[in-house]
Amino acid sequence: MSAKTKGGSAKAGSSHDGSSKAEKIDLESRALRERALAAMDRAYAPYSNFHVGAALLGGDGSITEACNVENAAFPAGTCAERAAVSSAVARGVRTFRKLVIATDAPDPTPPCGMCRQALMEFAPELEIVSITRAGKESHWRLSDLLPEAFSPSALQRAMKRTNG
Ligand SMILES: [Zn+2]
Repeated sequence: MSAKTKGGSAKAGSSHDGSSKAEKIDLESRALRERALAAMDRAYAPYSNFHVGAALLGGDGSITEACNVENAAFPAGTCAERAAVSSAVARGVRTFRKLVIATDAPDPTPPCGMCRQALMEFAPELEIVSITRAGKESHWRLSDLLPEAFSPSALQRAMKRTNG
């Protein structure tokens, strides 16, 4: 159930080294899916039994994955998406192109509100793909999932008003 079609690029021709831009994107997408699914399998979710993996593609081409980690004190648990952001930032990556979320739910799951906010800080136009183990997927743009977001620029505008 994809909102997008694949292979629509007009720049799909091969370059001199034999690998086209489209092929590179396909490899990247496959790597992101594999890393998200592998992270999902490592999720620590003994209470909800809802396993989530996330793989975040950095502006530098790196992939950072994470899983949800629950806790007996429920609010101390963390989502896979926010854990991936923290881990990537700790490695020095602050720009993101794509997030792949993998779950074992019957239908693709969008990120929770808190994760949408955390992602907004770094990548308002982030492409988000949610996949299931069974192969269903959905696509969103972060700005569509979190319209009228309280972003860094919104904070700046608010600060100007209070200081002026
Ligand atoms: Zn979340």
